[in-house]
Amino acid sequence: MEVEILVIGNEILIGKTQDTNSNWLAKRIAKYGHRLKRITAIEDDIEIISTTLQTILERKPNIIITTGGLGPTFDDMTLAGVAKSLNRELELNQHAYKSIEKAYEHAYKRGILKLEGMTKEREKMSYLPQGSIPLPNIRGTAPGVKLTEGDAIIFILPGVPSEMKAIFQNVVKPILKEKRGKFVEKGLFFMGIGESQIAPYVTKTENKYPQLWIKTHPRIGLSLEVELSITGFNLENGEELAEKALDEMKEVIVSLNGKIRERK
Ligand code: ATP
Repeated sequence: MEVEILVIGNEILIGKTQDTNSNWLAKRIAKYGHRLKRITAIEDDIEIISTTLQTILERKPNIIITTGGLGPTFDDMTLAGVAKSLNRELELNQHAYKSIEKAYEHAYKRGILKLEGMTKEREKMSYLPQGSIPLPNIRGTAPGVKLTEGDAIIFILPGVPSEMKAIFQNVVKPILKEKRGKFVEKGLFFMGIGESQIAPYVTKTENKYPQLWIKTHPRIGLSLEVELSITGFNLENGEELAEKALDEMKEVIVSLNGKIRERK
């Protein structure tokens, strides 16, 4: 399946928060053999959320995952932006309301929060775009949301990493696993040869195995340590092909007097 991630939050764009959510998601999307086609980061703005989601939908990914902007404050605008984008009304979702009410009751009883009961701000989180399925948030208050639009499934997840991860594990992962593709990733580290010196050999091997993506990533300085990584999606004999390409690259490294450090 093809996947896109939409990261929403002013704090990401001013460098206050590092976007670790999309990296965490990207690893898992690849692990289950799906292709993450794009990560987009935008500010909390209804219009921008709306038009960006429309543009993503035009590219027809199978799955869209958004993170951030689900909280109770005025600048959490994800649901309003999504509703606008899909031309749907925001409506009170009773399941969401009850789960939010319960979460706050629990937090009040345990002394975590001092304000009891539902307020306007807390209620706001239970207004979901028409057709939403709320996804329970066991680590926080704002539920995630599952929506379908045409053939695309949209998962709207909170920004707080622990909350985002818990909903992903419970709801998104089973879907990625069920429709799992094949992903292969092999590699090694080498020292003593710079990226530019090995580049023509990488190109040669890449041309020989066009189904694979062969890439070097400098780790420390120019030539102190370089990682060679070979990846492939949905190939019948991906393991075998990647192993062959890796062996050929090992021979090149040795012939250029480079030193190899195997990956653990
Ligand atoms: P909640 O529903 O729990 O209120 P939220 O969806 O409103 O969460 P945000 O208000 O967007 O989430 O972000 C809350 C916090 O989560 C941020 O201050 C930041 O610490 C963290 N966060 C948000 N987005 C990301 C991200 N992409 N990567 C890592 N951390 C993030």
